[in-house]
Amino acid sequence: MIDLTEANTNLVKEIFGDDLDKIGDIRKCYNCATCISGCPAAEGDPPLLIRRLVRKVLLGLEDDLLDDETPWSCVSCNCCEEMCPMGVHPFEVGLAIRRWQCSQDETYLPPSLPEVWEIGHTQSVHKQGTLRASLGLADAPPSVCVTPGAIAGFRKMLKETDVIRDNSYMFKEEEE
Ligand code: SF4
Ligand code: SF4
Repeated sequence: MIDLTEANTNLVKEIFGDDLDKIGDIRKCYNCATCISGCPAAEGDPPLLIRRLVRKVLLGLEDDLLDDETPWSCVSCNCCEEMCPMGVHPFEVGLAIRRWQCSQDETYLPPSLPEVWEIGHTQSVHKQGTLRASLGLADAPPSVCVTPGAIAGFRKMLKETDVIRDNSYMFKEEEE
């Protein structure tokens, strides 16, 4: 049972603020799940389910939403934007939730960041070897995670960002 006694009735405004004009009226979301049907991150673990995030926002489930890591597994493919029949702009919803999560705590670290540092992706593309082999595919797709030198170059760029500098104890490079 969902406990609404602590619900934040102002959560929609707090999350979307000035971006409300970019996002369709999320109250029109009728939970049809069309946005999930083409979402690659909906197959993730945990799955990214935009329709569930929309419900959390509408119900004012602030604490639950603050702890929700799934908005960070979006791969920005924009598929959901084209598919939503109600013009909700699910991709923008996910981005706004990320910005709001960061704004709630200046020490907030996007949960996908260690994975981005480690393999250059927000998805565990290098951990699907068995499934890929069963489909006749190589261990990992031809991306930064298997391209010689690419991770080093990628980390060099990341090290120029404040979030990596301020948390450098978490982002170490293996000894050669
Ligand atoms: S933009 Fe993000 S939420 Fe939308 S379908 Fe792509 S991965 Fe899923
Ligand atoms: S496709 Fe649009 S209306 Fe359907 S669940 Fe997703 S956000 Fe809601």
